[in-house]
This record gives sequence, structure tokens and C-alpha cells, in this order.
Amino acid sequence: MHDYVIVGAGLFGSVFARQMTDAGAKCLVIEKRHHLAGNCYTEDVGGIHVHRYGPHIFHTNDELVWNYVNRFARFNRFSYRPKVNYRGRIFSFPINLTTLYQLWGVKTPQQAQQRLEAERVPIERPTNLEEWILSQVGCEIYETFVYGYTKKQWGREPKELPSSIIRRLPIRMSWNDDYFNDRFCGIPEGGYTRLFESLLEGIPVETGVDFLEDRCRFESAAKKIVYTGPLDRLFDYSLGAHDWRGLRFEQEVVNTPDDQGVAAINFTDYETPFTRRIEHKHFDPVTTDHTVITREYPADWKIGDEMYYPVNNDAGLELQRDYVARLPANYLIGGRLATYRYLDMHQVVASAIHLADKEIATDQGRLKSIRITARRAA
Ligand code: UDP
Repeated sequence: MHDYVIVGAGLFGSVFARQMTDAGAKCLVIEKRHHLAGNCYTEDVGGIHVHRYGPHIFHTNDELVWNYVNRFARFNRFSYRPKVNYRGRIFSFPINLTTLYQLWGVKTPQQAQQRLEAERVPIERPTNLEEWILSQVGCEIYETFVYGYTKKQWGREPKELPSSIIRRLPIRMSWNDDYFNDRFCGIPEGGYTRLFESLLEGIPVETGVDFLEDRCRFESAAKKIVYTGPLDRLFDYSLGAHDWRGLRFEQEVVNTPDDQGVAAINFTDYETPFTRRIEHKHFDPVTTDHTVITREYPADWKIGDEMYYPVNNDAGLELQRDYVARLPANYLIGGRLATYRYLDMHQVVASAIHLADKEIATDQGRLKSIRITARRAA
């Protein structure tokens, strides 16, 4: 009998399995795909670690989380500084003084503030993404950096989207062009897959196994199920299907050591059908004569497709609540798919450690607390 059957070898499932195994619980991890690591998966293409399901950059302000992941891989000091290509012109991004210099020739924070004051559209209470951006930076920046990219990405007009989607991005009046404000940032050297192999070392993992095809067997073999897949599928879509944005990737090997000189270029006009052009070797630099490029095309989603971005509108959130209310008592959930939330990797790690801590606390007679170990690592 297993204490936990963990459904999904992505970040949530793998961290939870590690924590509970270290505490003395018996865990089995099953994974539908034929590989570990969920959407963090990287594959080796001639020595270059390709982010198969889109670029993943680990960043966090939480020292505990940072030290935790560094136990399982060595992280490089990558920081994300993408560029924007708008109708053939290249800009620094996210919006910072370099961007505003390139756009308007302003050279100091004061000049930039003054110009922005003049550009801002006075909207007292912005109610959507478009209004919010216009009220912050005005029409030209909205058109150059946001409108086309956002419409492609979400398949709808920015005025139909909540501003929370874009408030993730900084707007800086300094020359700092780092995408993230976090203290810690990096990519595991040798790729993410290696990090997962290390996380799951010594834990039984079965890949290519669909939990839902043999649910009774797994349920009778475990005291608890930790389910990290989508809840609508778990309940056979009985209340309806969640809506996601999909992605299609077009990968190309180019015979040149460096094709674009940076990890990501965002194509922000609406006409170019892809949103980003990724050159993977810049995430984890290697010396090769070739390079691997991926173009990322946003796509409508249908049942059976890979899930990327949850469309968190009111209907989706209500559906999620209804499914959560129906979960059997011995089911625990976590991660992006099961919680139907867009989560950064550091949030997933923190929530998996937290759930493991809670589980350990319920069975202190048998399970040893590894909270202390994790804290000491910090
Ligand atoms: N965004 C944009 N232009 C860009 C990059 C991002 O307008 O060049 C907007 C877009 O609406 C996107 C949101 O900012 O959905 C969040 O971007 P982020 O880079 O966080 O998206 P992710 O990396 O998660 O795809």
C-alpha cells in the first residue's frame, strides 16, 4: 500500500514526492507523458537544451525556495532581457529608459516621466487591460508593445481582458532592463529535465501511464491521491470543460553559432502570426556550430490539446470551484493544471512544500518533519 499515488511528474508532483519520501512516506509517481518534468521539460538537441513547451525561467524572491531548488541542480546566472521586434524595429523590453530613449529620445528619468505624463490617457477607473495600459503609458506604447502581442496571445481584444495579465510586467524609469524584479533568477545548468531526475531520485516513477485509464487500481493502492492534472478531465467534463489558450511550436535547427544574439524576441505587431522567437542556447550557453530556434504561435484550444494558459474569466473560476467541491476526501490537488491558475515555478515549489508540511503535521507519529531541513538550507 502506498501512502500517496502522485499523478503527474511535473513540478508540483515531483517536489511533493521528494518531500514526503524524505519524511518517510511511501510514494508512487505516475505520469501520462513519456517523460518527466511537465512543461518544464527540456530535451537535448545536439548539445542544446531545448525548452520543448516554451521558455521557463526560474525566478523568485523567496530564499527558501531558491535554496531548495539549488539542492537539486546548479543554476546559472541567467537573467531575462528579451527584445521586441515591432515592424522591423528592435526595442529593449520590458519598458525601461532604453525603450523610451529608442522610442522618443528621452535620456533621463525626469524626461521620461514628463513625456509619459503627456502621453497618458486620463482614465479614472480602468476596467480592463486596454484601459489600464492606456492610463499608464498612452497610445503609442500600447500600440507598439502591447496591442498586437496581447491580441495574438489571448485570441481576443485587450479590452475584453483583465489588467492583471499585464500588471506582471514592470514599467521602469531606469536603465534596468531585467524582466523580473526578483532577487534570484537562473536556469538549471544541463537543463530542467536533469533537475527533475535529481528531485525524483530513488522514488518509483511510471511514465506513459494514464491515471484515468486505471483509476480503480491506483485508488485502491494508495491512502491518498495527489492529483495534478486538470479537474474537468478527472470528472469526465461532467460540469463542462475549462477554457485554455494553446500554443503551437515551430522548431528549426539553423547552421550558425548564434542567430539572434538573445534568448527571446517578442514580435508585437498583430500581423506576424507568432508571438516570440526563442533561441534556446542563450538560456544555458554552449559552444556549438548550430543553434535551435522556436517560433511560438498562440492557438485556440480544444479538449486533447496541451494546456498552457488558463482563461481565468468568471465562468472558468466558478467551474473550478464546483469541481473542487466534488473532490473525494482522500484527494489532494496542486499545480497549474489542477488549480486552473497561471502559476510561476517558484509559486508551485512553495505550494508543494507547504502541502507536504501540512501532510507531515497530520501524521507526526510516523513521518519525520523535514521542514527544519528545508529551513536550514535557507
Ligand atoms: N505582453 C505584451 N507584450 C510583450 C510581452 C507581454 O503585451 O511583448 C503582455 C501580454 O498580454 C502577456 C502579458 O503581457 O500575456 C504577460 O506577459 P508574460 O511575459 O508574463 O507572459 P508569459 O511569459 O507568461 O507568456
